[in-house]
Amino acid sequence: MSKLTDINYVKSVLSKNGFTFSKSLGQNFLINPTVCPRMAENCGADKKTGVIEIGPGAGVLTNELALVAKKVVAIELDKRLLPVLDETLAEHNNVKILNDDVMKLDLHGLIKDEFGESRVVVCANLPYYITSPVIMRILEEKLPIDALTVMVQKEAAQRICAHPGTRASGAISAAVHYYSEPELLFGVSAGSFIPAPKVDSAVIRLNILKEPPVKAADEKLFFKVVRASFLQRRKTLSNSLSSGLSLSKSEVGEMLSEAGIKSNARAEEMTMQQFADITAAYYKRINT
Ligand code: SAM
Repeated sequence: MSKLTDINYVKSVLSKNGFTFSKSLGQNFLINPTVCPRMAENCGADKKTGVIEIGPGAGVLTNELALVAKKVVAIELDKRLLPVLDETLAEHNNVKILNDDVMKLDLHGLIKDEFGESRVVVCANLPYYITSPVIMRILEEKLPIDALTVMVQKEAAQRICAHPGTRASGAISAAVHYYSEPELLFGVSAGSFIPAPKVDSAVIRLNILKEPPVKAADEKLFFKVVRASFLQRRKTLSNSLSSGLSLSKSEVGEMLSEAGIKSNARAEEMTMQQFADITAAYYKRINT
């Protein structure tokens, strides 16, 4: 068992370095000994694979990733954790820590510089406050990675993995399914962390697709349509599209009928193909 899941060891290294947890940076560190080995085992890394980790914290997941992967590059925003990581990961010579913000770093450049031609995956216990922006940034930038394995809040995991066209789906489900095939791997209880968050978490893996599952007339418009469709969840698709795309009710009615969609349909009933069909009708409307 890793010493990084020994609560006394972790607390002593953190306090020796004067570290106190920051809520605003989403700092909940894993101390359940089974979670990180399971994440490392399921993230698709092997001795030929490079791993990008986001937010190593005290290094508990980084340590497991370093054991299975060729190289790990971990991006940590909080510079107070640098001396902690120096100490906890001292035995690994295949780990590099970058003190940076994952939302600002040039990730394409990082992959090229750090991993060259190697296969790359991303694995992280994400800070909750930027779960969706981080996932969407990585997917939208079309990074040359095979998979993204992340721990997120349980409700976010369910929403992300829900199939478009089913009740639990939302804008993020459609966006994620455009780029990947998401899988819910396992649940993680709130008591697995220090400090314990208020809600449970889950680990999901997004297997990156080589081609999107539907052909959109225009990718940007597709996402605009998806976002607009879910703008007002309690209203009909037609109402949401009308306000989200700044179109009149009758213009939206024509678009929906062209796409073969009932006027009283709801956004969560739409499949990926139907979102693509609405996009095609919208594209035609604004380009003719
Ligand atoms: N991986 C550790 C674990 O599982 O115990 C820590 C996970 S903790 C949920 C999230 C980590 O992300 C923290 O270490 C936090 O400082 C870091 N973090 C927060 N915002 C970040 C950002 N924008 N870029 C990089 N790291 C960030």
